[in-house]
Amino acid sequence: MVDEENRAWSTGSPENDHRAVTVAIASDKTDPYAIHATPYNRFIDFAVDLMQRYCKDTLVYLGNKDATLNHPLAPNEMILTVYPWFSSSAPSSTWLINNLSNIATEVTNRLQNPTPASAPKYPFSNSSLTSVTHYSPNNSGRRTYAIQRITPHCVEGQLIAEGLGNWFDSATGGTSQASSNYGIGRNGEVGLYVDERNRSWCSSNENNDQRGITIECASDTTHPYAMYDAVYNTLLDLCEDICRRYGKTKLVFFDDKDYSLAYVVKEDEMLITVHRWFSSKSCPGDWLYSRLPNVASTVTARLAA
Ligand SMILES: [Zn+2]
Repeated sequence: MVDEENRAWSTGSPENDHRAVTVAIASDKTDPYAIHATPYNRFIDFAVDLMQRYCKDTLVYLGNKDATLNHPLAPNEMILTVYPWFSSSAPSSTWLINNLSNIATEVTNRLQNPTPASAPKYPFSNSSLTSVTHYSPNNSGRRTYAIQRITPHCVEGQLIAEGLGNWFDSATGGTSQASSNYGIGRNGEVGLYVDERNRSWCSSNENNDQRGITIECASDTTHPYAMYDAVYNTLLDLCEDICRRYGKTKLVFFDDKDYSLAYVVKEDEMLITVHRWFSSKSCPGDWLYSRLPNVASTVTARLAA
């Protein structure tokens, strides 16, 4: 009734509604407002699906308002709140409140011990094309959104993959406060710096990096930031590999920032976005930018083959 990214008017508490996905469940008309088996089980299915989509595996219920609002949520947690905590005009919800502990246990159990039927269809993984792994501390940990974008960048230097890994890590003398999930070195080799399940610091935009796999590509240092054929060809291979692992059949690119950012990416699509839409940079450089329609069509053709 209200998109998840929007705030519903549900619990009488803006503070709660800003943070919550709110769900109204059919119940009896009078106390204890019992919920019948079918909506109860559908609510559990709904909670499992919701949490998978936001990369959470632990549903927490602490039984009272103060403990809940003071609980520091871990990145893998979602917490249950109830309407009567926020509004004196709310129905008592007695039956539901008595069952929330069971709901939290059941949902967490299904997320942590998935059966084939409830497992995420496309769990996070990393590319087998990786030949250099050098993890960067510059990341935000677990993503909070499903992967639906690929954002290729230009390095502004003809680096090898290990050089880029060093630059993203202060332990190896790196001075950058940045990272990417992958880098493609000048010989076409693939470096992994931030696991795909985690959010890199790459595109000057949290919203994009939560949704995108970011790929730094070795390039010339000046306009149009040309790349070697080996780098371009590996970029095609890596995009194809990523799309296959997340069940995507189309890689799409629109030469239009506003259209792209408003575009509702379909379940089987991956969207190409670029750094220049989020900051005053030329990244990924005109050389690659002009080839992005070809990246999208070539990869889509391979996925259909
Ligand atoms: Zn960039």
